[in-house]
Amino acid sequence: MASAPLAQQANPSSLPQTAEDVRSKQLEDASRSFAFTSRLDALVAWGRKNSLWPMPYGTACCGIELMSVVGPKYDLARFGAEVVRFSPRQADLLVVAGTITEKMAPVLVHIYEQMLEPKYVLSMGACASSGGFYRAYHVLQGIEQVIPVDVFVPGCPPTPEAVLDGVMSLQKMIADGHPRPWTKQWQRPTWIKPIF
Ligand code: SF4
Repeated sequence: MASAPLAQQANPSSLPQTAEDVRSKQLEDASRSFAFTSRLDALVAWGRKNSLWPMPYGTACCGIELMSVVGPKYDLARFGAEVVRFSPRQADLLVVAGTITEKMAPVLVHIYEQMLEPKYVLSMGACASSGGFYRAYHVLQGIEQVIPVDVFVPGCPPTPEAVLDGVMSLQKMIADGHPRPWTKQWQRPTWIKPIF
């Protein structure tokens, strides 16, 4: 048998309500004036994305450009990421800004391993991302060969706006809970020996 047209179907909100329903609705309305609900993981992600503590790993000209990102004009503090730390144990965002030589790779890996979890990596500029114009045996042709990278910022050097865009992309990734298999599956490359 065909069902009744939609307009004739019972609307739950138009049904007579019991006293208990009314009390429950009043309680719900009252609670909205002083409380809100959210998912715990969304709240944690919100806190994480707005309190990144970057560790600058500046080795060349990109490092100079990175300084202007933190300065008053571009003001990284607007994104909650101005607490620059120079100890990996106090940082959760590694910003690699500059050329990384093969000799430096073990140091970079060592620093990455010492950072807090969850940790993120931003590769700033052509040199860090691909070796840049150094097509040479002694330069690492991209830091993702030794550590997992979340965001690549192109440019030589990237503009401060591009770096901020990279930070915002990372924030979105954290807020969305974007899966990061490159980080989960990361293992120290076999050719990198422990420093200590
Ligand atoms: S990408 Fe360009 S600006 Fe950045 S370190 Fe390399 S050469 Fe310097």
